[in-house]
Amino acid sequence: MAPAKPTSAATPRRPKKTPAADVGKPPAALIDARIAELPDWRGALLARLRALIRAAHPGIVEDWKWNTPVWACHGIVCTGETYNKTVKLTFAQGAWLVDEAGLFNASLAGNARRAIDFQAGAVVDDAALQALVRAAVAFNAAPAGGSGPAGPAPGGGAMADGVVHGACLCTRVRFSARLPSRWVAHCHCSYCRRAHGAAFVTWVGFAAEQFSLDPDSAGPRWYDSSPGAQRAFCPTCGTPMFFQSTRWPGEVHVARALIDAPLDREPSAHVFFERHVPWLTVDDPLPKRTSQG
Ligand SMILES: [Zn+2]
Ligand SMILES: [Zn+2]
Repeated sequence: MAPAKPTSAATPRRPKKTPAADVGKPPAALIDARIAELPDWRGALLARLRALIRAAHPGIVEDWKWNTPVWACHGIVCTGETYNKTVKLTFAQGAWLVDEAGLFNASLAGNARRAIDFQAGAVVDDAALQALVRAAVAFNAAPAGGSGPAGPAPGGGAMADGVVHGACLCTRVRFSARLPSRWVAHCHCSYCRRAHGAAFVTWVGFAAEQFSLDPDSAGPRWYDSSPGAQRAFCPTCGTPMFFQSTRWPGEVHVARALIDAPLDREPSAHVFFERHVPWLTVDDPLPKRTSQG
């Protein structure tokens, strides 16, 4: 017997507008009620998908739009619709995401959205779904166009309000910094090289009061890397992120590469250049300072 063809265009069971009686109710309660009114496999699957999405990223919040469950972080990540024979997750910006596991199987021709249709008995790839959720969060968190295939938008949209944003690789640790910055420089010291596993590290210095972790950020882990100095990294993905030292009181140094947007200045110097590795050619015109001067 041939399997039934996917019926992603099945008629919705309910209006696409939230009934007046439900307007203003907490989204989580509405999602609970939606799950409860589907006593078959669809309710169980929606509950499972909900748990996976919420666990994928600590910044995920629940919302309710179009009479439908919504999960969001820096904008809509996906909606969870239920039809007669299908549970559908629609990713608002799915077209921009790298779908390595090939989960998207519906709405493939849309401009921005992509969807995953689940039929009865569908096997859910938990890890791949959660990776896709995190990719959507990262896309939403990036400055306008920052991580899309279209490439960075000129200006990045970040300079307008004078605040730049950044995140570690897994996007659990997220921060904002208000311009102006104090300086940007390439550091060739051995501590930076080893901490980042790189030939040198480009830092941007901010006054400490202009820097903050975002409210929904995970906390970075701080490591005492030398007397009076600490380096912060993401406890989940290990991305080296920040530096503080009594040598530069009141400053937070942020790894420049974590900020996609243009800054108010470009790098102005190489520092600790006497430590630079011999396998990198540095032939830009910037001054090459040493620790002595
Ligand atoms: Zn991380
Ligand atoms: Zn350094």
